[in-house]
This record gives sequence, structure tokens and C-alpha cells, in this order.
Amino acid sequence: MIQSGSTIGVLGGGQLGAMFTTAAKRLGYRVAVWDPDPDAPALKLADLPFAAPFTDKTSLDTFAASIAAATYEWENIPVATVQALEQRVPVRPAPRILQIIQNRLDQKTFLARHQIAVAPFQAVLSPDQLTVPDAVGFPALCKTATLGYDGKGQWRLSGPEDVRRVQGELRAQSQHRWIVEQFLPFEKELSVLVVRGADGDRRVYPVVENVHEAGILRTTRVPAGIHPELAEKAAALAGSVIDALAGIGVFCVELFLMKDGRLFVNEVAPRPHNSGHYTLDACTVSQFEQQVRAVCDLALGEVKLTSPAVMVNLIGEDFTKATTDAEIQTFLRQSGAKLHVYGKKSVRPGRKMGHVTFLAATADAAWEFARTLKQMLG
Ligand code: AMP
Repeated sequence: MIQSGSTIGVLGGGQLGAMFTTAAKRLGYRVAVWDPDPDAPALKLADLPFAAPFTDKTSLDTFAASIAAATYEWENIPVATVQALEQRVPVRPAPRILQIIQNRLDQKTFLARHQIAVAPFQAVLSPDQLTVPDAVGFPALCKTATLGYDGKGQWRLSGPEDVRRVQGELRAQSQHRWIVEQFLPFEKELSVLVVRGADGDRRVYPVVENVHEAGILRTTRVPAGIHPELAEKAAALAGSVIDALAGIGVFCVELFLMKDGRLFVNEVAPRPHNSGHYTLDACTVSQFEQQVRAVCDLALGEVKLTSPAVMVNLIGEDFTKATTDAEIQTFLRQSGAKLHVYGKKSVRPGRKMGHVTFLAATADAAWEFARTLKQMLG
């Protein structure tokens, strides 16, 4: 067990790193934050800030020498950096897991090998190789194997006529590997947070329902508006994914729910997730406190929902409106409304600036508040 008073390292200093830092400090830990962007929000909260590229050898040495364990808040950290750290301190989740998750192709292959349902897919190792095999079929999606997020690096292929066009776009990319997968006409997008300790203790948070806009998460509703039997199935599936990975830490499993009740895994995040922010206000123990507990080998905490909730992300200019518009300010005064602001230096389109969580007696009531807020944001 890593004792309170020790220093924990976190790679990545965005809002997830900042919320981790706050949780760790509340449990008496010191936190070293490493992020290449000197304006990263978590650097301001850190006991030991490291503003340097992840490939910087001197920073790696000093960072490793300062910490008792490390974790990360972003899956696109260079694997070589976390592997080098692992030589000196425990890294959770382990670099071997980061390596699988970082690459969609490896991730999907791993899941399929473990009999976990994923959309039929095929590797695309060069733009010329892009085809949509019968097993995948149209419509299909082509995604970059690495570094895609919030729907970036994704091309839709509605029919054979799109293949040449997308090949042209792939040629213009610096990426060299892609995946082509079946487009699943899902009914709902769900996600499930799973926490797993070093002793194998595994806890699954309630299943949530997500709505994306322009590829970016906009709202999360908990509990998901699905039949309890389906929720149980989704929770069991998510748990089995993390067992297969034998991961230690907090994970988010994103799922597609089809009309006929089938569930497919879209992807796994090896870290707390935007769709788990509700746990800060609507659960006894948040996803960030669980991350601290898992990284430090403390007993895991309760994953119980204390109130139905809906979270609305404040993206780009939403944030300016939410924090300056008098009508919205009045709306946010109501009982159960909680505003979170990430402290990012500049507002950019598509940038997650903060979020609002609405707690209410039912998820439907919380959803109504969220709908009103979105209307006010325009
Ligand atoms: P991803 O980058 O894989 O998380 O994809 C971003 C979003 O694209 C997901 O949240 C879905 O809304 C959508 N999407 C991804 N893969 C598929 C798929 N196979 N079928 C339908 N929609 C998808």
C-alpha cells in the first residue's frame, strides 16, 4: 500500500488529471503532474508540476525519482515513457494495457479474441488496401488506428463510391494504419465505469446513457433509460472486458445497444471518463477517488448511485454563456444543479471547458433540467 503523504505521479494535466489531483490531495497524497502544455489545468494544482514533452529524458528521471506510483489521464501518452517509468515505480493501469488500448486495431483484436462482441472489422495497412469486405458491409466507418478521439479521424463509407474518395483522404494523413468497421445503427450509446484493484476486487458503476453531438459527448444520463435486465447484461459485459485485460485502475467501457438488445463494445478507456463525471456529485465515491485508491492499493470504495443525475458538457462557447448569461446563472441556482469549471486558459470550439450536473428525484426530471439548459445555451 502506498501511504498517504507519498507522491503520486499523473501523466496528462487536463481536467481529468486535475480532478484526480484534487481527489489525491483530499486523501493526503502529494501529486506530481506531467503535461507538455504549460497551461494544462492540473499543473496549477500540482505539488510538483512538470511542463515538458513526454519524451524528455531529464523530466522522466526527475519525475520517476519523485513518485511512489504513476497513473495517467490520457491514453495517447507515449508507451515508451510509461514503460520506462514502470522500471522504477508501479504504473497503473500497466503499460501493456495502454499499448493494447492505444491502437484500435490491437484493442479490437484483443476483444474479439476474448469473445467480446465488437463491430465486424478489418485492418487497413495502407490507403490502397481500403476495401469494405462482405463481413463488414456498407455503411462502414474507417477510423485511424491511433490518436483518434471525439470522432476525429473517422470517415463514413456509405457505398462503394466512397472508397476512392476516402482513400484520397487517407493518403493525406500522417497515420499509416486504419481500421474499417461495420456502422452499427445503435439505439443507444451506453458506458460503464469499472474499477479494479490489485487484489482483483472489481466494482462496476451504474450503466449510463450518452448522447454525442458532432462526435463529442454532450450529455450523460444515469441510470440509463433501459430495462434493468439489459443494464445487468451491460454491467457484466463491461466487467468481463476489464477482467480479460486484468487491469488495475479505473476503466470506461463504451457500448452500443442495438434495437434487438444486442450489445457491442466500441472502445475502452484506461482512465476515468467524461461520462463518469456524474460520480463526483451523484455517488458516494467518485471515479477519481477510486483511481487514487486503485493506484495506491487502498480498498476500493462504494460505487452506489446516491441520486439520479444528468450531466451536460459545456463545450467551447457554451462555457462563456453559462458563466455570463444572467438567465442561465439564475437557472443554475436551483436545487440539484452543480457547475464545474476546468480553468482552461482559452475557449476553443469543441473544447471541453466545464460541465453541469443536475441531480433530481428521477433521471427524467434531471433530463428536463438538462434539456432546458441546452436550449438556453442555444
Ligand atoms: P469513437 O472515436 O470510436 O469513440 O467514435 C466516436 C463516435 O462515433 C461514437 O461515440 C459513435 O457515436 C460513433 N461510432 C463509432 N463507431 C461506430 C460504429 N461502428 N457504428 C456506429 N457509430 C459509431
